Amino acid sequence: MLTPPIGLLGGTFDPIHLGHIKPALAARDALGLGELRLLPNRVPPHRASPHCSAEQRLAMVHLAANEFGLCVDERELRRDRPSWTIDTLEELRHELPETPLCFLMGMDSLLSLPSWHRWDELLTLAHLVVSVRPGWDAAEATTPVQALLAHHGTLRVDDLHQRRAGHIWLAHNEPLALSSTEIRARLAAGNDPRDLLPESVADYIRNNGLYVGKSGPVL
Ligand code: ATP
Repeated sequence: MLTPPIGLLGGTFDPIHLGHIKPALAARDALGLGELRLLPNRVPPHRASPHCSAEQRLAMVHLAANEFGLCVDERELRRDRPSWTIDTLEELRHELPETPLCFLMGMDSLLSLPSWHRWDELLTLAHLVVSVRPGWDAAEATTPVQALLAHHGTLRVDDLHQRRAGHIWLAHNEPLALSSTEIRARLAAGNDPRDLLPESVADYIRNNGLYVGKSGPVL
């Protein structure tokens, strides 16, 4: 007998915003997920520069998690090598042998999946739960992604409870046209995008003067 599936949302979260959290909460409710975990990525030092530190990203992820009753899994941030999703899923599969794993992502991530490390093995370890994201459409998927959807797509929630891995479920969440890039740009321009963020994260950004007056690129 398997335990209820858990949801995993990986991201750079620079910063975490409602476009991450609302689709994840909708998936939790629609699928009856037993837990929702945020997995902040490690960003290589040479790519991190214009934005905030790993500690600050992590602090914001914890604030958002507290506000919305989510869990935080710090393993990728603690690694001193690239944070490949496949490595994380292998660890989790070992730790939670009787739990279906649902790896959550936006449609943009599904469309870019063939660029991920060992992408064709991901579905041996987890299900993929794909949120609507304005600007990206499954109809534009390349042939390998279309083949993946044809072989693994399901409309049945039960499939995600009855198997540990191997299905793709396309969500019907409210589309939210927002990104960390846009939030950073708004902050750098002196605007306060607090309507796009968890309240505690908006306060943290303001109190620490994050993303404001950066001389480097914000995109
Ligand atoms: P950036 O603008 O810096 O690239 P981002 O807003 O896309 O960041 P990430 O941390 O890269 O955020 O995204 C983590 C995950 O959340 C990805 O799977 C992404 O598809 C998903 N995601 C981000 N924003 C949305 C959104 N508005 N709607 C649905 N999914 C989203």
